[in-house]
Amino acid sequence: MAYSQKRTGRIPIKLILAAGIILFSLFKYWSNSETNEWTGRKQHITLEPEQEIALGIQSAPQMAQQHGGLLPDQKLQNLVDEVGQKLVNTSIARQTPYRYDFHLLRDPETINAFALPGGQVFITYGLFKRLENIDQLAGVLGHEIAHVVGRHSAERIAKQSLTEGIVNGVLIGSDGGTGAAQTAAMIGNMINMKYGRDDELESDDLGVRFMIDAGYNPEQMLGVMKILKDAAGGQRVPEFQSTHPDPENRMGKIREAIDRYKK
Ligand SMILES: [Zn+2]
Repeated sequence: MAYSQKRTGRIPIKLILAAGIILFSLFKYWSNSETNEWTGRKQHITLEPEQEIALGIQSAPQMAQQHGGLLPDQKLQNLVDEVGQKLVNTSIARQTPYRYDFHLLRDPETINAFALPGGQVFITYGLFKRLENIDQLAGVLGHEIAHVVGRHSAERIAKQSLTEGIVNGVLIGSDGGTGAAQTAAMIGNMINMKYGRDDELESDDLGVRFMIDAGYNPEQMLGVMKILKDAAGGQRVPEFQSTHPDPENRMGKIREAIDRYKK
């Protein structure tokens, strides 16, 4: 009796702990805010550029492994590297501290391209072989370079730890019931999904700009979208499709970007 009386009217310690964890996560996230000097967009980032570069270089071999390693064709590797470096050297990407490397992956099935933080860029042979011209290759690589310049991975990492903090807080505060866990996971997904779509639209936009700066035909980015749309039937299109906005939707925005940057 005495015990339960002592507890009445007090906030349970686990709620205080939960609130503390959530507040700390929010504080850490919001206090690490800066304006991206190349895109002009305000973003939340906890990594330094050197850490992004190190992280990218460190995880590159593992990423390549997941797609059967590099395609053993030096001529095609050189072509991908050439187009990538041309896009970097003629655009704002050159002003960034990042170290850009371009890799053609052996995987002939997966239709994908992706960038690790700090400048490691990959395209699968599955996507490469479907491209109809060099301008389309430039479109794919330009989009990936834009993910690096936009620091989207670093941003996602910061968001991830915010999400984890909130999820942990909710779980602690609610005794970890399944209902609460589901709610927490849902909140987490919502935060990450929304930003994913924005990242893609920003990369499409910047990618078009890089293509024009390097002298490639930006209209061919629409050709890339068409290829992705056609391939979506039975193929897996992870980076370029499933987490991405509808290609139809992207095409409209790409057309707008072409008109805007071409002037
Ligand atoms: Zn993308």
